[in-house]
Amino acid sequence: MRIVDIREVSVPLEGNIANAVVSFAEHDVSLVAVESDVIRNGRPVTGYGFDSIGRFAQGGILRARIIPRLRAADPASLLDESGLRFDPGKVYAAAMRNEKPGGHGDRAAAVGALELAIWDLNAKLADVPAHVLIARHFGRAPQSQSADVYAAGGYYYPPGSGRTLRDEFAAYRDMGFTGFKMKIGGASLARDLERIEEALGVAGSGAGLAVDANGRFGLDTALAYAEAIKGYGLRWYEEIGDPLDFDLNRRVAEVYDGPIATGENLFSLADAVNLARYGGMRPGRDIFQMDAGLSYGLTEYARMIDMLEANGFDRRSAHPHGGHLINLHIVVGLELGGCEAYPGVFQPFGGYAPSCALGGGQVRPSDAPGFGLEEKPELRNAIARLAN
Ligand SMILES: [Mg+2]
Repeated sequence: MRIVDIREVSVPLEGNIANAVVSFAEHDVSLVAVESDVIRNGRPVTGYGFDSIGRFAQGGILRARIIPRLRAADPASLLDESGLRFDPGKVYAAAMRNEKPGGHGDRAAAVGALELAIWDLNAKLADVPAHVLIARHFGRAPQSQSADVYAAGGYYYPPGSGRTLRDEFAAYRDMGFTGFKMKIGGASLARDLERIEEALGVAGSGAGLAVDANGRFGLDTALAYAEAIKGYGLRWYEEIGDPLDFDLNRRVAEVYDGPIATGENLFSLADAVNLARYGGMRPGRDIFQMDAGLSYGLTEYARMIDMLEANGFDRRSAHPHGGHLINLHIVVGLELGGCEAYPGVFQPFGGYAPSCALGGGQVRPSDAPGFGLEEKPELRNAIARLAN
């Protein structure tokens, strides 16, 4: 068994929205196909993966460095001991040949997209949903229950835009969501407090509402917001300062009793270790949001989960960033805390297929083999572009 071809297309994100720091209008995502020489129903079994939403496609790194290394590898060296599956860890190692340690930036997303396509391919070869393959691979029992999911969004609406935060969250509530997350830091503290009150009108209580500063705050602002929001009992206070400013995170955690969430912009095990060591994260309270698609794929991500457990954190404190099908399967397969969803935005990648049961704040993967990306109508055109 061998890889016949690896292809990538860069797919622009739809939706003209802005968080506190960046506009998503120029963002795109790498969708990768890994085609095997196994033929079923007259067609090669092909795995699909992508990096994650909210950053950029990685076609350049994939074509210049990563894909040539896999083409040059001995095909047998990429298989597991049974010879019936590709070994994601070996594929990861081959993709990283001659790369120096550290500097985990865009290459982590390039490798992530490719490595996740290997998991999709393996699950299709085994004819099981990816979450089942993931659970078995890591020695866990496959799960049938749903995952917790909350609706992320809560954007800024200019006065006169004809839409409000309350409208946005009321629409999510009507779709079956019971938890919500909103942006903060894109306006004054006073204005953000008004927006939080507006959102609580739909969420009901602070337990149903998280706030996300998207890494925008310096220490003084971070502490001022912590003081101002502490009485709301919010679900969590997310990505407060620069993702690598572990000292800022620690100093907020020292005075803010509510949960803190962060980690979506850490792209390696080494960075996650530093967060666990130096970020003041509190077992039983705080939330880790690292995202396999941004951090070399599931092989590296699973090492992060092992590291968290070794440091006294429960795997249910992991809520991966990125509301999409791949992370749904990872959450169910590894029995993590839950996933997010961005209803109506970040298409074609955001959200779940119609075959996924969504309601009551829960979402469940379908029985489709792999990640089931082919079942998501919005992805059909992009997947068709990858066909030979
Ligand atoms: Mg975030």
